[in-house]
Amino acid sequence: MACLISACSLALLAWLAAPHLRADPFNRSGRVLTVMDSVTGVVRHDFRAPPDASPPFVNPGTGDRTLFLPERCHAVRGSPGLATRTPTFVILNEDLGRDGPTRCPDCGRAVTRHNKSVSDGALAAAFAGAPASE
Ligand SMILES: [Zn+2]
Repeated sequence: MACLISACSLALLAWLAAPHLRADPFNRSGRVLTVMDSVTGVVRHDFRAPPDASPPFVNPGTGDRTLFLPERCHAVRGSPGLATRTPTFVILNEDLGRDGPTRCPDCGRAVTRHNKSVSDGALAAAFAGAPASE
């Protein structure tokens, strides 16, 4: 028992004395981002980006640099003026090195950086649970 306490004490002293031993092996201090894989279309809301990395990020599952920061389209297909709280995620053509405007695959509207596919009022209403128009 005394040996266990001594071992714990030594470990605590080492942790206090050596800041590099306190480095977070799980990168909990990194940015948590929503990313979308450009190959599979899979969206992850819990991606922890390395502190100095920029998109496209390496997909830890494939080792490929295919994770982009997607834009969100809150427009409702076939219902102009309405918004949904569940967005369609879209990677911009310019981020993929492609020419031309980006279109939402769901509603067909143009998607831009910091996308505003619907009005603030329609979006607020969608999150409030009430129908609204633009
Ligand atoms: Zn859309």
